Amino acid sequence: MKWDQSVLLPRACEVCQSKEKLKRCTGCQVVYYCSRAHQRSDRAKHRESCCSVESTRATADLEEAALRIEIGDRLWEEWTGEFDRYEETFPYLISRHAFAQMLFMHFGGVGGHRESLSLAVSHMEDILRLGPGDYSGVRFDLSFLYLRLGRDQEAYDFVKWWITTGDIPGYNWEDPRSSMLEAKNAVVLEDPPRRTLCRACGGPDLRFVLLLAIVKARLVVNLIALQNATRVLRGRMPQEHIDMVRGHALGSSYACRGVLLKCTPRQISAFIRKAKGHLQDLCYALEERNTYYLEMIFQGGPLVLFEPLPPEKTRGSLEEAQIGLVGGYPAWAESPGTIRLIRSLMRPREGRSSE
Ligand SMILES: [Zn+2]
Ligand SMILES: [Zn+2]
Repeated sequence: MKWDQSVLLPRACEVCQSKEKLKRCTGCQVVYYCSRAHQRSDRAKHRESCCSVESTRATADLEEAALRIEIGDRLWEEWTGEFDRYEETFPYLISRHAFAQMLFMHFGGVGGHRESLSLAVSHMEDILRLGPGDYSGVRFDLSFLYLRLGRDQEAYDFVKWWITTGDIPGYNWEDPRSSMLEAKNAVVLEDPPRRTLCRACGGPDLRFVLLLAIVKARLVVNLIALQNATRVLRGRMPQEHIDMVRGHALGSSYACRGVLLKCTPRQISAFIRKAKGHLQDLCYALEERNTYYLEMIFQGGPLVLFEPLPPEKTRGSLEEAQIGLVGGYPAWAESPGTIRLIRSLMRPREGRSSE
């Protein structure tokens, strides 16, 4: 979990960062203060975000109440897993998703509140539990949040499943045997799903391609850190200390972590080359899909979050790139070294294209 520890804010007073005697803001229920005085002094700055979150939560609560009145409480027992098949539930699903989005748009930007991201994740997971077909499209936001919370393996499994199964036309959601997320503990070192790079088939949603690119970029950075720790420390301290540093360098969320930690420097070098190749392929695919996206990442991403989000996203459009940046930019920015890495990997291509 090394990424989020350094970047996302833990629970603390908004004003003085104290972690003592915290009381939660009753409006947004996301930020904390150590005293009334500090809450008061932050009021002007906090008001707008607080109100947006509070009002979207109220809307979601109202939609839920309306649904319970219209269909009855039994809905939650009888329709769970099928919400997205009944139109009556759509306003509720959409409003709850909008609330979860407000949480991370207002309090979960680059270096934002860890708790607001976790809360958004729990709402989105619940929306998927109710309706796995994902009528409101939480899967795109959710995958980035997994990553930002240091849950790289889950992010990878989740996106791999959608790209290879859930988003394939003709996938039968009504088949009771079809279970969501069969991709568990997939090997992050494997080749990217073919559909991601396929030019003829159009490929998956841009956000999934870029999520895979961030996963790979973080993997490369982690493997390089592991390699450096192995080489620099060898023979200089007791092996158990070296193992500890190496473990920290790699991070903890990969299922193949145990295998990677046993690798020799030579094997790690081979994995780094391989992962870099995958990353390069994914970046070229991104560039081909949308010429704006990587350029915007290199320039420092969006300084403002888009609210409301751009409505239509045709393939290759600026809007598509902007939508990709909302979830994607914080993930890049919170993964030190990754933007520099993709810049260096994209360079050889310029030489090639001028030939
Ligand atoms: Zn304080
Ligand atoms: Zn508040």
